[in-house]
Order: sequence, then C-alpha cells, then structure tokens
Amino acid sequence: MMMEQFRHSGDFLAFTLANPNGLAPCQFELGSGVTVEIWDTGVICFQPAQAARQHIILSCGVHGNETAPIELCAAIVQDILQGHLTPTERVLVLFANPAAINLGRREVTENLNRLFSGHHSKGAGLINAERQRAQALEQYVTRFYEGAPANEPRCLYDLHTAIRGSRFEKFAVYPFLHGKPWRKQQLQFLAACDVHTVLMMQTPASTFSYYASHSHGADAFTIELGKVQPFGQNDMSRFAQADNALRALITNRLLAPKPFAAEDFHLYEVYRAINKQTQDFKLHFADDVQNFTSYPLGSLLATDGDLEYRVEREGEALIFPNAKVAIGQRAMLMVVPTDIQHNLI
Ligand SMILES: [Zn+2]
Repeated sequence: MMMEQFRHSGDFLAFTLANPNGLAPCQFELGSGVTVEIWDTGVICFQPAQAARQHIILSCGVHGNETAPIELCAAIVQDILQGHLTPTERVLVLFANPAAINLGRREVTENLNRLFSGHHSKGAGLINAERQRAQALEQYVTRFYEGAPANEPRCLYDLHTAIRGSRFEKFAVYPFLHGKPWRKQQLQFLAACDVHTVLMMQTPASTFSYYASHSHGADAFTIELGKVQPFGQNDMSRFAQADNALRALITNRLLAPKPFAAEDFHLYEVYRAINKQTQDFKLHFADDVQNFTSYPLGSLLATDGDLEYRVEREGEALIFPNAKVAIGQRAMLMVVPTDIQHNLI
C-alpha cells in the first residue's frame, strides 16, 4: 500500500502491515485541526487542535495473533483519520509487532512482552526484530510523554487477548507500584471497559505496562479482552464496552463513574509463581483449563521431578499455565483473592 491509498482509506493497519519493517515519518493535518504524525510502522500520534489535558497510549498486537484489540484499535484510528471521531486528548496508537501480525503468530522469535525495561539489551543483546522493536517502542513512549507536562494525566492501555478461556472473560494486570497506592479511578475506568477482574502484581516485570508505569509514572495496564480468535472471527459485540470506553476517553466524553465499590471487582494478588525446573515438569489438569480456575485445598497441580505442587490456600486460582516454557521460566502463576482497600486512593 502506498501513502496515497492510505490517505484515501485511513487504513493505518493495512499501511503498517504492507510496510512491516518501517515507515518514513510524516505529518499532516485533518479537517478537524487534529495533527497526525506517523513516527514509524505501527506508530501514529494524534495531537488535537486545542491543548490536551490527557496523554493516552493505546497499544495492541504485542502478540501478533491477538486480533480483536488490533481490529478495535485499527477502527478507532480509521475513524479519526476519516473525521468520524475527533480526539480532544493527545493519543498515541501502537501496533506493536507488525511482523508477527503478518505471520498470524504470537511472536516471530521471542515474546515481545518479556523484553521491556531494558530486557531487550540484556544477555545476547539486540539480536532479533522483537528486541529491536521493544527498544524502539520504549523510545516512542518516552518521546510521547516528553511532550506531556508532568502534572497532566498519562496512561497506557496495552490490549491483549488470552490464549485460553477464562472464568472471568476479561481481566487486567495492574503492574507493581512499589508501594504506591492503587487508583480507584483507574479501576472504575476498567469497569467501564467491562473489566471487573484485576490482578495486582507485587514484583517488577519485563512487560510493556510495567515499563510505562515504572519508567514514566503512567497509569498502565495489561488488559486481556477475551480469547484469541483469527482475524475476522471475533465477535466484536463482546468488546463493545471497551471500544466505547476508549473512544469516550480520547474524546473526553467519559461519563462520571458510579462510586467505587469493592464488590464490583474480583481483585487478586500473586501468591506464588511456579517455575519449571526439570524436563519432567507436568501439569495435572486438563490442557484447556480456564484462567482463574481453583481447586480444593490439597489438590495436586503439578509435578516437577520429585517436587509436588498442591493447592495451599483457600481460593488459590491458577493463571497462564504453560508446561512448554523453557527450564527456569514461569510455568504458571498462582493467585489469591485480595482486599486492597487499605492501599487505594
Ligand atoms: Zn498477549
């Protein structure tokens, strides 16, 4: 696809996927006065005509086969470019891994969402496209927030779909805040997106959302919007609430949320991570078990050589189980319900 076709169609996703290795930066203005800046393939920034108050990053396609958020973001960008939606806030939309999207795969060589906060340059260094892209995405996020006054709200919503089904279809991961309080207003925004289950992390991570939170002070979340489906096979009605809330956010039309009530949420914290230690690691439940499934106390969850892992806490639930990870990596995360009222503002 050429520039001229793109300007006609407003299909930035198609323009990106036709040029997965890079796009020459360019800038133009829409009839609404919104300035559009293309920074790279999959990287497009919107600057409203009037001064903005919020600095919002929407990210999708960190995992290339997670199509629903990619379609959702592509439609938002197209509606802006065609004048159907006029952002009042500064917005950066990221299609994070175009090469993997083209392949219809989660990743080309490495999980992009394990490479942020400098992890891209550790070990063997910038040896593959995902490592280089992680570094470039950090630079784009930095550039975007450098254009934001320190006292104005900044957020990043990194949109995903999970590999497996979930007892709670949609859920969000709230990165570790190093003791700073969790924010009710953000939980209320998640609820507006129809996300009522939130996992509060207690340790640093190499994810995109932790990077934005820790390095830039953004309200940042990884949001799992449902189960992976191929392009065109998503039932977009399931994402309508998230779509509406994101469109309202960037046009400053969010309705006042109802007062915060803890009972509107399922809040979890990590109890333990189970790492694979030997080639004999084995999960003792069905392959298609849903995220947030829990079993009775004492139930056998996994064995690893002579080690046995059993349910130790009432309500302990499993997420992201994967026996195929490399030795030393996390094979599953065990979480427990939590009450964070004491550390909420
Ligand atoms: Zn993902």
